Amino acid sequence: MKIAERMNRLGTESAFEVLAKAKDLEAQGRNIVHLEIGQPDFQTPMNICEAAYQAMKDGYTGYGPAAGLLEFREVVAEHISQTRGIQVHPDEVAVTPGAKPILFFTLLALVNKGDEVIYPAPGFPVYESVINFVKAKAVPLSLREEVDFRFWINDLVSAISNRTKLLILNFPQNPTGSLLKKEDLETIAYLANKYDFYVLSDEIYSRILYEGEHKSIISLPGMKSRTILLDGHSKTYAMTGWRLGYGVAPKPIVEQIIQLMINSNSCTCSFTQIAGIEALKGPQDFVVQMVAEFKRRRDAIVAGLDAIEGISCSKPQGAFYVFPNVKQLSLSCEHLADYLLEEVGVALLPGTAFGKFGDGYLRISYANSLDNIYEALERIQIAIKKLK
Ligand code: PLP
Repeated sequence: MKIAERMNRLGTESAFEVLAKAKDLEAQGRNIVHLEIGQPDFQTPMNICEAAYQAMKDGYTGYGPAAGLLEFREVVAEHISQTRGIQVHPDEVAVTPGAKPILFFTLLALVNKGDEVIYPAPGFPVYESVINFVKAKAVPLSLREEVDFRFWINDLVSAISNRTKLLILNFPQNPTGSLLKKEDLETIAYLANKYDFYVLSDEIYSRILYEGEHKSIISLPGMKSRTILLDGHSKTYAMTGWRLGYGVAPKPIVEQIIQLMINSNSCTCSFTQIAGIEALKGPQDFVVQMVAEFKRRRDAIVAGLDAIEGISCSKPQGAFYVFPNVKQLSLSCEHLADYLLEEVGVALLPGTAFGKFGDGYLRISYANSLDNIYEALERIQIAIKKLK
């Protein structure tokens, strides 16, 4: 095969590889506790499913506009206006199949070869992958455990150069669950305005928050014209498989995203968007209950991991991941993740699945029942004892 050279620059998400390995072991009869995959273990609420069935019956089964259905973009514009305290017009919204394409399309539309893009490290692996794909320079901004996986302002200042085109933010964060403070956002806004770069704010976990309040950089003075806000229904409404996401951006950027949609997906599924309206406009108790359940699990897993000798775990404020430090243990995080899967059937990810800044950590998703979390903790404890 003579595969195009550009494909060598694309990375992957190892969560899917670990899932495949864990499934193989299950096929061989092993019992596996899955803590590797980042999707809520809840069913999409029934009112949202019913809205989709009804939309199918009503004929929302053909191509729709590449930008997304106007009725869905109106509801998204209203939702973002209310939750972020800014005025958003439906023309500033682009709907995509899941939120991931907003990341891909933003980089394709904005970033030239040789431009620099600053991204959180450790961070969602697709950021670095797509930055490399468009031949930009990937500039990591390290998130530091000593400041609850926020960043040091000095690190940000030294990451900025006259080639900086874009800064990617993601809070609550995958993989650490961390949150930025208001003053961090204010500093970023000051620097973005001063050095004239864009901000891609990945807010896919904005509603999965246990302490504090979600604040978006888009709300700060001067930032609406330089922010691309990424959000969607995958995590908030347990709709990962439906593929429904959106970007809120200045109209000229939205127009480029629409061009890319025309050239790739044509449109986002129409009946999914009608269901998406029900998600945003219907009762929100599902979200409240899901987040309360995640909080119980977070507290259980943080306490359980912290009690294991050689592991220390800080308490994340959002998303559904913990990022325990395993530097005291004798194995590298990759070997430890393999060992835990093979020895005791606990599937989780090494921190390095989120870039080299994740070395010395594990990423554990607690999107699994409390019973399974307790079971996993017990198994991890047994396995770690054996290491001594
Ligand atoms: N951004 C982050 C940080 C994520 O963790 C994910 C999914 O895991 C996404 C974006 C993609 O979301 P979607 O499934 O809607 O494409």
